Order: sequence, then C-alpha cells, then structure tokens
Amino acid sequence: MEDLRVWYHTPQGPVKAVDGVSFGLLKDERLGLVGESGSGKSTIALALMRLIRPPGKIEGGAIDLDGVNLLTVGDEAMRRLRLAAIALVAQGAMNSLNPVVRVREQIVDAMRDHGEKLSKQAANARVASLLDQVGLKPEVADRFPHELSGGMKQRVCIAIAICLRPKVILADEPTSALDVVVQRQVMDTLGRVQEQLGASVVLVGHDMGLMAQFADRLGVMYAGRLAEVSPVREIFADPLHPYTKLLIASLPSIEEKGRLNGIPGLPPSLLNPPGGCAFHPRCPFAMPRCAVEDPRLQEVRPNRWVACHLFDPDQPRPTDLTQVNGSTHAPGLIGAPDSDGPTGLAGPTGTTGTTGTTEA
Ligand code: SF4
Repeated sequence: MEDLRVWYHTPQGPVKAVDGVSFGLLKDERLGLVGESGSGKSTIALALMRLIRPPGKIEGGAIDLDGVNLLTVGDEAMRRLRLAAIALVAQGAMNSLNPVVRVREQIVDAMRDHGEKLSKQAANARVASLLDQVGLKPEVADRFPHELSGGMKQRVCIAIAICLRPKVILADEPTSALDVVVQRQVMDTLGRVQEQLGASVVLVGHDMGLMAQFADRLGVMYAGRLAEVSPVREIFADPLHPYTKLLIASLPSIEEKGRLNGIPGLPPSLLNPPGGCAFHPRCPFAMPRCAVEDPRLQEVRPNRWVACHLFDPDQPRPTDLTQVNGSTHAPGLIGAPDSDGPTGLAGPTGTTGTTGTTEA
C-alpha cells in the first residue's frame, strides 16, 4: 500500500479517515493494525477490498497485490479478485451471512460465483472440507446462520473467506462480539488456516492482548496515519512513539491492582485535525514544532518505523520528559525515548516524497 488516502465527504467538508498510509505485507506475515475508534484501521480494510461506499472515496494511492494495482483494475476484475486473491472476514458475523440461506448454499454460491464448476457431489465435499478446516462438523452445512452460536458463525465466515485460497485475509475485529474463550478459539482457527494456505493476514482491532498473541508486526494508527510500525515483540518491550507508549501503559496488568492509566484527551476530529502532529494536543512530549510540522514515518532502528519529531536526528531531547505540554505523568508511567537518541537511524526507504507517507 502506497500513500493511500480515503476521505468521507460531508456537508461540513472532507473527513480524512486515511491520510497517506503506506506499508508492505510479506507472504505468510500477520500484520496487526491497532488504534482507537475512528483512527482509520477499518477504512484501510475496506479500501483493500475496494468496498468504500459514498460519501467515502479513495482519493489516491496504490494497493499493489502481486503486480496488480487494486485501485485501478476494472470493477469486474476487482469482483473476481475478492475472495480469490484477497478476502475479508468482517466485523459481526451475523451481518455478513444471509440469515435465510443455509450455510452450504452460501459457501457454494461464493465458489460458483467465481467460476468454479462443481458437481453437487464435489461441492458438498468442498463444503465439508472447508467446515472441517475451521473446526466445524459437516452437518453445520445444513443449518441456517441463526441456528449457530456467535463463534460458529464467525468460523463459517472464515470458511467462506478461505474457500478460494486467497493470498491475503483481512480480519476486521473478527472476535469483537465473542466472549474471551471463543475469541481465542476463533483466533486459533484463523491462525491455523492462514498457515495451511500460506496466506498473509491483516488483523484490524483495538485489543492489544489479541494482537500480542496473533500478530508478527504491529501498525499503530492515529488520526488516519501510521504512528509506528514495528515487530510485535519489540513494540511491547520498547514502544517508541509517545502514543504507543501511552497505549501500552494503559493496559491492565494481572500482577498489579490499581487505577488504569487512560490516555489524556480525546482523539481529534478528522474534519478539523490539529496542525502538525495530530497527537500533539495529547502528547506529553510535545514541543513547539509539533504544532506546525508534520512528522514523517521514518525507520529509526532496523524494522522500527516511527512518525515523531523526537526521533529526528537533529532534535534536541526535552530535559524533563515527565512534564511536558502542561500535562503531568508519573515518572515511569511512560518511558522516555533513549536518552542517547535512537540508535540505528537510517534514511527511510521507499519515501514517496509526501510528508508522512513513507513505506514501512
Ligand atoms: Fe509528540 Fe511531537 Fe512526537 Fe507528535 S511529533 S508524538 S507531538 S513529540
């Protein structure tokens, strides 16, 4: 994805839901996209499927899947690529399934609609095999969606998503309506089928625990942009961007009881986002330049990409990193960036030339 921009046009003006996002996805990789509501992560998933509806519009950018730009192929070609090359497991399984059509017909319909010529016997065998892959018994094929539990419905959605062996599976908060035990089972199922297919997964969500267990790499979104992209272990062990630090500091701990540390302030309105770094009104490290200069996503250590002026090579460090921008944080609540400055500073690769739109 290169410099993707998706705006929702409202009578008050454009809402820049995704504003210059670029990232790469490797084969077999599991990339998590996290952020608060309205940060643009679900819009990215819809844009990858080219399912943005008015008043939303993809304003620019490119999404290259094995040499095919998904944003410029014709409508019919894109329809064929959905499921066959890139598939979505959407939020809320009940809304994704037709309530008055049996599971078998919904799976077979997806396959036939993409040109698979299947006899009745072959279709039944494929359905049974797909259900088995997601841990469901063959008799589920004859049920209506309302006869299934939430976890079973979500597994049926995964079965449909993998029926044509796509290269990329998008999972948009696939477990948001499920209890934690079923969440775990569904994520295990998703991980297992991904490994069987050798597919890549983009997992969209706000559950950091789920991300820690599932993703290889994490992209942290804020106000329609990527604030940080790093391997998941490193991001939890040593978050770099101030927003990521606060996000991780806000997670409850099973070892310690006490008040949870929220992130001060509210996410900005994307209709009138703050100038400069969109996080500056909430950032405890904000400096005068943060209100006017847009930070660029840059690789500040190997495989660690951050959009923050604190990591600019020429940026002097604030002396008291616990009291900046008028907001006080208990020392130790958020760790300061390395006092020696970030190591391994390297020029960003794949820079598009647009502020904040560097390929990670
Ligand atoms: Fe905070 Fe400035 Fe970095 Fe934005 S650029 S996260 S305001 S220090």
